[in-house]
Amino acid sequence: MKLVVQVKLLPTPEQAAALEATLHACNRAATHVASVAFDTGVKDRNGLQKLLYADIKATFALSAQPAVRVVNKVVDAYTTLTAQARAGLLGKATSKRYRSAMSSPVSFRPGAAQPFDDRCLSWQQDARTVSIWTVGGRMKALRYTGSAGQLKVLHAHRKGESDLVQRGGKWFLIATCDLPEPDVMEPADWIGVDRGIVNLATTSDGVNYQGRGLRRYRNWCARKRAELQKKQTRSATRRLARRSTREQRHATHLNHRISKEIVSVAQRTGRGIAVEELDGIRDRDRVRLRRDQRGTLSSWPFHQLGRHLAYKARQAGVAFLEVDPAYTSQRCPRCGHTEKANRPTRDHFRCRRCALAGPADTVAGVNVRDRARSAWAFVTMPAPATPA
Ligand SMILES: [Zn+2]
Repeated sequence: MKLVVQVKLLPTPEQAAALEATLHACNRAATHVASVAFDTGVKDRNGLQKLLYADIKATFALSAQPAVRVVNKVVDAYTTLTAQARAGLLGKATSKRYRSAMSSPVSFRPGAAQPFDDRCLSWQQDARTVSIWTVGGRMKALRYTGSAGQLKVLHAHRKGESDLVQRGGKWFLIATCDLPEPDVMEPADWIGVDRGIVNLATTSDGVNYQGRGLRRYRNWCARKRAELQKKQTRSATRRLARRSTREQRHATHLNHRISKEIVSVAQRTGRGIAVEELDGIRDRDRVRLRRDQRGTLSSWPFHQLGRHLAYKARQAGVAFLEVDPAYTSQRCPRCGHTEKANRPTRDHFRCRRCALAGPADTVAGVNVRDRARSAWAFVTMPAPATPA
């Protein structure tokens, strides 16, 4: 299982200057390659390398490996862009967004990530330093730091390339680690997780993780964004971009915390985790939402929470299952009666037949759990013996 570990670099002022010169040169080179690729239509690895390899090395003072990485980075960027366009993520081919994305070459920020392989970057774990290629020659004894847990993973499992990035004047290496995957424990039972808008996650145990802080924060951000958008200046645009990054980071932080907690409960109690398949959730909530709320739904981090849960579960050897989401909000877990009127309001569930009542999100979580119970029994049931 792949895992990324980020360590912070502690360069001296001279080392920082050399890192900056190196990263900026790599990204200037990448922007140049991208514009040639755009003009000539050559966007494959071999073609671009043949065309530009000597040029990159001479003009930008890059050595062989970094030059190859720069070309790969550009090829990857165009591949991603094409895939996004094809998947409709840039809107219709006639939209302003689509046209502006496709009508100019890809460009790279000066501090954008640059991959370094083992030939250009070596790690001295005991000294907690790296030695790294720079445009001014090999830099030795560059110190790094990180949390104890991260360093432990890094030192035991680092494999392959690491990315050098500059963020907010600070320097980081993002290393890829390859961890052995634990066997999945046979679950004794399941925790059903209902994902929602007010409660980001509610479990069949009745525990809910509220997104209220997040919602308030997002509303505040939306207001600020509107103010900034009115201004339309360059600095306002920059501030806007920074704000949306911060907003996303906050949502990511919450999702990390929630998924970590749910997985740790599952591990402690020997249970698996079940969630609803996603498209269903979106449809279900869309129906319930007011028109003015719908816009926020597509950006709501359901997907991310699901990914975090799946990923952390795998890491912990906890079984993870996605179940059919149909009617999980309307079905009575006691008598099975399914009717829209079972859920008179967003928050409350009350069965019209047997009068079972409770918080609606918890009931949905229980339904998800019950579905996982039967789905798992079905999956693990021995195949029927075929008659001889
Ligand atoms: Zn009932």
